[in-house]
Order: sequence, then C-alpha cells, then structure tokens
Amino acid sequence: MSPSNTLAARVHRHHVVIIGSGFGGLFAAKQLRKANVDVTLIAKTTHHLFQPLLYQVATGILSEGEIAPSTRMILKDQHNASVILGEVNSIDLENKVVTSQFLERITETGYDSLIVAAGAGQSYFGNDHFAEYAPGMKTIDDALELRGRIIGAFDQAELSTDPEEIERLLTFVVVGAGPTGVEMAGQIAELATKTLDGTYRHIDSRSAKIILLDAAPKVLPPFADSLGQAAAKRLTKMGVDIQLGAMVTDLDANGLTVEDLPLDGREGGTVRRISARTKVWSAGVAASPLGKTLAAQSGAEIDRAGRVLVNPDLTLPGHPEVFVVGDMMSLGKLPGVAQVAIQGGRYAARVIEDGVEAVRAGKTVPERTPFKYFDKGSMATVSRFSAVAQVGPIKVTGFIAWVMWLLVHLLYIVGFRSRLTTVISWLTAFFSRGRGQLAITEQQVDARRAMVYFTAPEPATAPEPESATRPLQESRP
Ligand SMILES: Cc1cc2nc3c(=O)[nH]c(=O)nc-3n(C[C@H](O)[C@H](O)[C@H](O)COP(=O)(O)OP(=O)(O)OC[C@H]3O[C@@H](n4cnc5c(N)ncnc54)[C@H](O)[C@@H]3O)c2cc1C
Repeated sequence: MSPSNTLAARVHRHHVVIIGSGFGGLFAAKQLRKANVDVTLIAKTTHHLFQPLLYQVATGILSEGEIAPSTRMILKDQHNASVILGEVNSIDLENKVVTSQFLERITETGYDSLIVAAGAGQSYFGNDHFAEYAPGMKTIDDALELRGRIIGAFDQAELSTDPEEIERLLTFVVVGAGPTGVEMAGQIAELATKTLDGTYRHIDSRSAKIILLDAAPKVLPPFADSLGQAAAKRLTKMGVDIQLGAMVTDLDANGLTVEDLPLDGREGGTVRRISARTKVWSAGVAASPLGKTLAAQSGAEIDRAGRVLVNPDLTLPGHPEVFVVGDMMSLGKLPGVAQVAIQGGRYAARVIEDGVEAVRAGKTVPERTPFKYFDKGSMATVSRFSAVAQVGPIKVTGFIAWVMWLLVHLLYIVGFRSRLTTVISWLTAFFSRGRGQLAITEQQVDARRAMVYFTAPEPATAPEPESATRPLQESRP
C-alpha cells in the first residue's frame, strides 16, 4: 500500500481520542489494540504513572522511572495508537474537537469517540495557599519535592545548634489518615528509625517525631473498623503519633494551626499549634477541571469533588460518543481507585469497538449493557512486612496482607522492566533497610516556588529564599 493510500485508509477509520495516560486512559488504549480504529492518546505527561507507589518515591525506596514507564514505549508495538504530548484545555463537544497545548504549540484533534480520563488533583478545600507548605502527592514532581523536603529537613537539623529549631525540623506531619497518609507516615518513621539511623553525626534521626492527623475520628476510613484499628496499632508501635478529630485550620512554613473537634459534634474546639517544618497533604482530591467544561456543554451535573455524573454506560447525557472514566466520573458510590478506572477504561473501549464492528458488518449497533464494577478489594501497607487488606467479607492484617499487597502491586505495574527493577529495589529496602533513592537536589525542592514566581503576571521582587526550601545553605558555626 502506498503512503497516500495508508493515509486515506486511516482518515476513514473511526478515530478514538483518549485524554489521559493514567489507569483509565492507558488501559482503554490497550483494550483497543485489535480494534479497527485509530487511537490518539493525549496526555500532559510522557509517562503512565503508578500513583499507588508514589509514596515509595517520596521516601527513597523506588526511583521515579520504576513507577512511570514511558507511554510511547508501552504503545510502541500497538500500531493503531499514537501519542500526543500536551495539556488539554478545551473540548468542543458540538464539533467533536479536542484542543491541547505543549509549550507554545497548539494542536486540534478531531474525534468520533472520546474517552476522558484526566483523573483528579489534590484538594485543599479552598485553601490553595496550603500547597506551598504542604505538597500533596499526585505527580512525580510532588514525590521528588517531598523527598527533598524530608531528607533536607534532617540535613538542616544536622547543621542547626538551636534545640527548638532542631525539634521543628525533625517534626513531620502527615495530614489525612487515609491509605496514602498511613503509608507515608509509616515510611517516614522507617526512614528515620532504620535507614537514616547512624548517618548523621550531630542529631539522632530516630528522635524524629512523626504525626499523622485527621479531622475524622478513625484511621483508614474506607476500610472496616478492625483494619483501621490494626493499622493504628502498628503505626503507634512504630512511634507515629496519631491525632484524630484534629482539623487543620492554617498552615505556614514553620507549622500548623489545628482545632481539636469536640467529640459530641458541637462547634468550636480547642485550637493549638504544631511546630513542624515538613508537612505532607493527603487529605482530599478534586477532579480535573475538564469535568466542569464537559458539564457546562452537556448539562451533566458535577458533584462536590468536581466529578461528572455519568449515565450507566459512562457517557455524558446526550453524547453517547463521549465517555468519562476513572477519578473524573461519579456513578453510584464507586470509589476513586485504580480498579474503577481500569475497568471503566476497558468497558468504554469495548463499547466503542462493538459499535464500530456492528456498523462495519452492516448490523444494528448492540444495546449497551450498563457498566458493572467488580470490586477486587482494597489494601494499604503500614510498614515493612505489615499491611491491611479487605476482599469482600475477608479481612487480613500483618504479613499475609503485606504479601498480598506486594503481589497485586507487581501485577499492575506496567512492563517487565519496571517490574524487575521494582522487585530489586524492594529486596534492597525490605531486607537490608537501605534505600537506593535518597538523592535530592535543591532545585527539586525550590521548583514549586520558582514556577509561581516565573509565571506570576508582574513579579515585583524575586522570592525571598526560604530556609525550609534551602536545605544545605545554613552552616554550623
Ligand atoms: C498517592 C496515591 C496513592 C493511591 N493509592 C491507591 C491504591 O493503593 N489503590 C488504588 O486502587 N488506588 C490508589 N490511588 C488512586 C488511583 O491512583 C486513582 O484512582 C487512579 O489513578 C485513577 O485513574 P485515572 O485514569 O482516572 O486518573 P490518573 O491515573 O490520575 O490519570 C490521569 C491522566 O490524565 C492526565 N491529565 C490530567 N489532566 C490533563 C489534561 N488537562 N490534559 C491532558 N492530560 C491530562 C494526567 O497526566 C494522567 O496521565 C492512589 C492515588 C494516589 C494519588
């Protein structure tokens, strides 16, 4: 076939555009590998990010490459798929066009079917300025920044002679006691008491104080009470100070203001201050702003977290060609977890393929059966060799749950190479207590503030260097 024929054949094929290379987007693209369609995947990162292991990047167990394989490499042999790097900033439902931007280049991509899987970002519940002092954990940049802040805090403490400052530098507060918060608090504790033990000459890394706090009255709210209690018990044994019913009302470079909520539900609790240089935010999520765009054009509703209320076949009202999957969609009470996104992406791809095949065969397009989620269970690690898992009515804690966690995560890491290197890193971290990814750079830690400065409309003055983000500049007299 000549090149022009190839192009003609492609132009006439059904074109599926997928926004996002996360769990929903990538698994939808892969599901379409044998379909008689062209697939264009548009994402603002070049990788597929395995978010559940971000906390291991933030605490030096894994490298970012191990949990973020290149999307192009993954789809290299899928000849009906191509990848566009760019941030989608507009979707025109009427004309079926998606507009994306990469640096100054703007690309318009037409579609026959659209799968929107742009996920969710961190929510600070209207206090976006908290982000500067308490990064969340949604991207590779977040995880590397956190790693820099955590290890940088130990390094600053090593250089300080002021006991009050040392205490502030060695206090780490994780806000949000869901799975991510529990995993993060457990790993900072292990980093301080095992990995970094004996590596500093003037401070004892084991004296670090790790606080896990949440406004809710329990740890791991989505899990059964007994599993939340088991996780809390294990964390307490590791030295983590769990503070429940504690709501963060303010945050700055040197600490947090917290209100202890009265147990009887009345308003107006005791307000106190926690001095802590390093804060991690794992308390809330907000769906991609693309949800609002879709809702405004289709009349779909959005919930409080910005998720789009979809039809039972995951489409927008009045737009059977537009699917919304994963963390961006709201259907029943489905949780924002990887399996919902994977199954939703695959479902949308199958519906599209069935429709295209029916048209090609001159048959009636089959009626769509509603999306049905198969719950494979939930799990969270607490520490080395300890996790909690819930599969239907079965609840498991401790070592067996940890092995289950290990196997399930390995299964869903995309690509043989990433799996192999992850196993090697895990063996090093779990059996020697050493961690291979403790490198930090000042640039990683400063990037967030620099970006704000450089993208501000009229930067009057250069940003004040803040010692919280300049780990190696103070010197011991
Ligand atoms: C720290 C953390 C730990 C987690 N742990 C677990 C766990 O243990 N188990 C579990 O089941 N779930 C876990 N989750 C949740 C799980 O990762 C999500 O539910 C899942 O990633 C949702 O998939 P998605 O495809 O909807 O979105 P994502 O995986 O977030 O993918 C969104 C994609 O869209 C792209 N994108 C976003 N906006 C745009 C735009 N405007 N233009 C172009 N591209 C865009 C992003 O770059 C990304 O590629 C965790 C999440 C986090 C953050």
